[in-house]
Amino acid sequence: MIIHHHIGFNTQGLSYLPVDDISFVKDAYEYAEKAHQGIFRKDKSPYISHPLAVVEQLSLLKLDKEILAAAFLHDVIEDTDISAVEIEHLFGAKVTELVQGVTKLEKLENLHKDEMQAKNLEKMILAMTQDVRVIIIKLADRLHNMQTLDAMTKHKQYRIARETQDVYVQIAGKLGMYCFKRPLEDLAFKYLYPYRHTILQKKLVLNLCTHTAKIKQIQAEIKDYLQDNKLNADVIVNQKNISRIYKAMKETALSFDNISSVFSYSIVVNNIKHCYKVLGLIHHLYRPLPGRFKDYTASPKSNGYQSLHTKVITKEGSIIEIQILTQAMKQKASYGIIVCLLNRTDQMGEIAQKTRQWFNCLINLQQDSDTSREFYQQFIQEIKQLKIQVLTPAGDIHELPEGSSVLDFAYSIHTEIGHHAISALSNQKQVNLSHVLINGDVLQVLTNQLHSPKPNWLDWVKTSKAKINIKKALRKSAKENHQTVKRLGIEE
Ligand code: MN
Repeated sequence: MIIHHHIGFNTQGLSYLPVDDISFVKDAYEYAEKAHQGIFRKDKSPYISHPLAVVEQLSLLKLDKEILAAAFLHDVIEDTDISAVEIEHLFGAKVTELVQGVTKLEKLENLHKDEMQAKNLEKMILAMTQDVRVIIIKLADRLHNMQTLDAMTKHKQYRIARETQDVYVQIAGKLGMYCFKRPLEDLAFKYLYPYRHTILQKKLVLNLCTHTAKIKQIQAEIKDYLQDNKLNADVIVNQKNISRIYKAMKETALSFDNISSVFSYSIVVNNIKHCYKVLGLIHHLYRPLPGRFKDYTASPKSNGYQSLHTKVITKEGSIIEIQILTQAMKQKASYGIIVCLLNRTDQMGEIAQKTRQWFNCLINLQQDSDTSREFYQQFIQEIKQLKIQVLTPAGDIHELPEGSSVLDFAYSIHTEIGHHAISALSNQKQVNLSHVLINGDVLQVLTNQLHSPKPNWLDWVKTSKAKINIKKALRKSAKENHQTVKRLGIEE
């Protein structure tokens, strides 16, 4: 006997959409509800509760009707008999593409689990490079799966948490979607290190109790001081997420007595000029810690993140961390690439451009990998690398993995510059191609058209762009040599 659970879908959360779009999404809901009818999740809830949670998450971000409809249908092809053709017939090609992007491949009997996982990831990443909305659905999907992970076996919990940390947390960070990155990271931490998580959680609750009064007093002090100086600003106290605190604990001897290890302050102002005015005032009010000021406003991080960062000591001797940013920067700081989707004028903006560059790099990586496994490994390596910033004499910033060489930098500027590079000038001093760069280096690459890639260059580069292009050039010249030999009839 099938028990008919009717959960229902409340369209109130979609009021930002036109009426026609709302009914389009509602149709997708009704279709998905029927398709999953009688199926239950591991935690015994009706299956439709899962796509519903995913859609709810995406509607909070005010995303479009196609992504919402696709989110409702995201498990239909994978888990029911319904075909892509039928979905396309009812909901159109765009929605179908999105659904297919997050649908896993048919399980192949003779393939190992890891190989299947690599194949699925490869497929999803390629779909993401075609339409970034694929990864947004996948992140919302993963978030809900992580929130309901208790229902799974310990072994599965660990495997899913591992993949979440290695892949999805990284992608979310890379695209600036901290609204997904933070909760995913904390949930992964909870299942990967349950004991540490429990202890830290307890400590944090205690910590909040002891520090609340002091934190509020500092907040008021800053706000009053800015107001006295005729600056309108919101002063917000943020508690850092648990895995970030854990990471800092591993790197430094962190003490919970220090406010800055657990909390930070955001000061939100109207425009960029005010950011710098506030910075001046803050450094006047409190003594700044030397070397702790960072200007991501003038040079944004590669995921578009912008803000002024500083660390100061209050009059009572507490060290606090402050970010100063505009409302628009704050939006970008939590939503990243999603801001480009919502705000079409930002389409050509910096985040969109950087994302394109990264996607192209991933496409190259995929084309150059012989197997899905190799691609998976390369991808994990590429995304986890720490980055440094290196500048051209004209001030163009290139972000490269730590340990990159002059040759990596040359290829990052342009493939042709890489191919013909001979050395570089750094502070009037000549450095050779294998020279390892450090953050903030300013370099002019010197080229010679007669020079071309040598096999030992592969030992000097870290970036996949350089590796791929050197290999390509070497293959091409080997082929040309071979043809010359043939043409001359020297070959046997
Ligand atoms: Mn799902």
